[in-house]
This record gives sequence, C-alpha cells and structure tokens, in this order.
Amino acid sequence: MTAATLASSVERDEGVRRAYSADASGLVMVPEGVARPTSGAEIAALLAEASANGTAVTCAGGQTSTTGASISDKGIVLSLRGMDRVIELDPEARIVRAEPGVFIGELKRTCAAHGLLLAPDPTSEEECTVGGAVACNASGARSLRYGATRSHVRALKVALADGSLVELRRPSLEKNTVGYALAHDPVDWFVGSEGTLGVVVEVEFGLLPLPEQVVGLAIPFAAEQDALDFVVAARESRKVHPRCLEFFDRRALAIAREAESTPGWAKDADAFVYVEEVPPAGMAPALDEWLELAEQRGALVDDVNVYEGESSLREARRVRHAVPATMNERGSQRRPHGGRKVSTDWAVPYARLGEMLAKARTFADVAGIEQAVTYGHAGNGHPHQNFIAHDGDELRRIEAVVEETLREAIAMGGTVAAEHGIGKIKRRWLPMQMSPLQVRTMVAVKRELDPAGILAPGNVL
Ligand SMILES: Cc1cc2nc3c(=O)[nH]c(=O)nc-3n(C[C@H](O)[C@H](O)[C@H](O)COP(=O)(O)OP(=O)(O)OC[C@H]3O[C@@H](n4cnc5c(N)ncnc54)[C@H](O)[C@@H]3O)c2cc1C
Repeated sequence: MTAATLASSVERDEGVRRAYSADASGLVMVPEGVARPTSGAEIAALLAEASANGTAVTCAGGQTSTTGASISDKGIVLSLRGMDRVIELDPEARIVRAEPGVFIGELKRTCAAHGLLLAPDPTSEEECTVGGAVACNASGARSLRYGATRSHVRALKVALADGSLVELRRPSLEKNTVGYALAHDPVDWFVGSEGTLGVVVEVEFGLLPLPEQVVGLAIPFAAEQDALDFVVAARESRKVHPRCLEFFDRRALAIAREAESTPGWAKDADAFVYVEEVPPAGMAPALDEWLELAEQRGALVDDVNVYEGESSLREARRVRHAVPATMNERGSQRRPHGGRKVSTDWAVPYARLGEMLAKARTFADVAGIEQAVTYGHAGNGHPHQNFIAHDGDELRRIEAVVEETLREAIAMGGTVAAEHGIGKIKRRWLPMQMSPLQVRTMVAVKRELDPAGILAPGNVL
C-alpha cells in the first residue's frame, strides 16, 4: 500500500473533529484533526511521521472511557473503529483474533455461536471496542470468576511510536530466571496502558467453553448492611459457585426498579444483590444453597427474581446497565451548568466494603453533598459511586469528598482505580497509590517506547 501521510489522511473538518471530542467523562476536548485508518501499516506510517514532527496521537475506540482517556485537544484523534474485522476464530485452539475496532459484545456473540466464551465483560460491552478494552484492561461483573481482560489476551500486534509494527506473544515458560520480571512479557506493557505506549492493531484472545448452566438471581434485602454481609458470606462459602456478586444500594435499586418489567418489585427492599450461579460441569445449580445463605442474612426471599436462559439473562443485564446509563444521562444534563457525573472506581478488600462505604457516606454527609448512587462489583470489594454535580461549585466539593474517600481506600489496602483506568481525570490521584520509584519506572518505560511523547499526552502520567 502507499504510505498514508498526516497531511493526506487527517480530516480537519470541524464537524468531524467535534464528533470525536467527547467520551463518557463529561469532558469535551476538540482535537486538531481526526484520522480513521483501516490497516496496521497505515497506522505505523502515521506514527512514524507524527513522531518525526511531534504531532500528538490519541487513540479512540468506542469512546466510552469515563476518564477522558480517548479525547484530546492536542494533535489528532486516531479512531480505530474502521478496523472491525474478526480475523480468525479457531474453536479447536479456543482462540479468536480480531482488529481493535470490533465491539466486545459483537465478538462475544461470534464466539458464543461456536460454543465459546470471550470472558471480558465490561457493562459497556455493546459500545466499547476490543482495542479500548485491552488498553484499559477492562473488567466487569464476571471478572469475579474469570479475571480482567489481561488474563485473556494471548498475543498482540502493536504499532509503536517509531512506526514499527511488533508482534508479541505471551511466553509459555513454566520457569524463567532471565532478566527482570517486568520485562518478561511485553504483552503486559500494553494491556492497561491507555494508549500511551503503542497502538493495538490486532488482539488474540484465549476463549473458555461456554458454561453449561447459568442461573441469575436478584436477591433483595431490607437493609444494605445485610446485603453486604451476604456478599462476604457468598465469597467464603464452598456450597455456591458465583461468577458475579453485584451490589445495588437503595438509590441504584430505585433506578433498576424503573427499568424492570415489574416496576413494583420488592417494595420492602433497600438494596439487592445480583448473583450468577455457574456450577462446575455436570453439577446442578446450587439454588437451595443460595436461598439458605440469603435467608440466613435476612434476605426477602419471597421476592427473589430468577433469570434462566439467554434472553432472561440479557434482560437482567439490561436492568443493571440502566443504572450507569441513567446516571450518565443525568450527568450530561448538567454539563451546560458546569456540572457532570463523577464516578469512582476505587476498591478495597471485599470483606471491608461495608466499613468503607459507611466512611465514604460520612464524608459526603459532612461535606453536605447528596449521597452517590452506589452499585457494582461488591464481590471484588469494588463498587461504583456515581455523584451528580449540578454545577462547577458542587463539582469541586464532590471531588474533595472523592479524594478523601480514595485516601481511606488506600489506607484499607485498596486502589484508586480498579476498572476504568486513570486517563486524564484521575491522574492527580495516581501518586496516592504509587511510590515515586514506581512512577519514575513508568516514566522510563514511556520514554523508551515513545521518546517524542506523542502517544496520548495527558493520560496516566
Ligand atoms: C455506561 C458505562 C459502563 C461501563 N462499564 C464498564 C465496566 O463494567 N468495566 C470497565 O472496565 N469499564 C467500563 N466502562 C468504561 C469503558 O467502557 C471501558 O474502559 C472500555 O474498555 C473502553 O473501551 P472503548 O472502546 O470505549 O475505548 P475508548 O474510550 O475509546 O478509549 C479508552 C482508552 O483506550 C485507548 N485505546 C482505544 N483503542 C486503542 C487501541 N487500539 N490501541 C491503544 N489504545 C487504545 C484510548 O486512547 C483510551 O486511552 C463503562 C463505561 C460506560 C460509559
């Protein structure tokens, strides 16, 4: 192919630039240009030229980032959406290779048609891409059982800032003492690097067999603390087999109720926990054991909703997705007033989640701000708190409360960002968790791979 040049392939039209200026963070940054390549070779040529003349390049997939990671007002946005081919699916080897612009939900359905499970499952799977999920190391409800995206990436093809294309495959060594561990597996450099170290142009995922049986249960509780105690009991029980343990507080329950086909569901409930039971092959789902566990923790067992079968489980997912989707909508309505949604993704050891949430709520009360809608991956000690800042002043007060909450999460052995990455919005909180030595090491890696600093400036570091 003829090498693309920045001059020939970058669109400068204002309408196009504005179409790539926002993600789910609430920030708006209009780039100087947009490139929409269709091959790895084209991307490599663009990067070589961008490095030579110092043009910033920020990758964009589905632009569902909650941290401003896929937008920039410097240089160009490189949209990978045009690279949307599934290259190979090998049911015997249980692998799938895809270009970065394929949507995760679509790729999952393609794999499922062959009896295989693509395990990464961000709630945003219908809107987020393979490249974005790899670059953010996306995770989701089912990561409780399967782990985050990282553990399913077998190999990557990456365009580096100098214009070279490299193919990286995870080593299959059982023992290895060669060199520093941080250099053993370069695939790990790029997973979770938020577009700062290279452009992912192809991904190979390992696949799992589709589970034989999945049963979803929405279990309501009259008291939030009972629901959180139930989550801890379920994690520690040997009788049940959860692949997710999701908590919804009173405010999240109110949104879910509106999205439910039976809106009056569990009228005495103050919280609910959604679980998916996936028994080992050949075993029946442990439904009696779940109900017993729930009853022991004070659940409203007469109101438990059971979801069985593909369409019913999809409906359960739709109801849960209504919570972040509604909060995004509420946040975007406040943008003209200087407000937005503020979303946390801190995590603590799961057994301390109840204690941590109580503290987080006290911080909000003391600051006089409206309590967050809180929901998410309680089985991993990882809720999302969604605040709505109605204006710029409230935004500052909410951010102060979030910062106080993050300090407490770190003190409990937790993290400031378990799922959505750092991007631009959370950069100031990275040093809370990482030592100066760790930050200097990351800066050194960034300098080595991107000496001109063109890739995703402002993300992470
Ligand atoms: C309603 C909602 C629910 C969400 N739920 C979850 C959830 O459950 N779990 C979760 O983990 N996240 C969730 N997210 C956040 C977001 O969907 C994920 O981070 C997702 O992985 C981003 O994918 P994307 O294609 O939209 O990437 P974008 O937002 O376009 O980009 C994200 C980052 O990836 C980089 N990038 C994109 N493509 C490439 C590439 N090919 N090469 C190198 N870098 C690249 C970008 O530069 C940016 O840094 C949610 C977001 C929303 C709005």
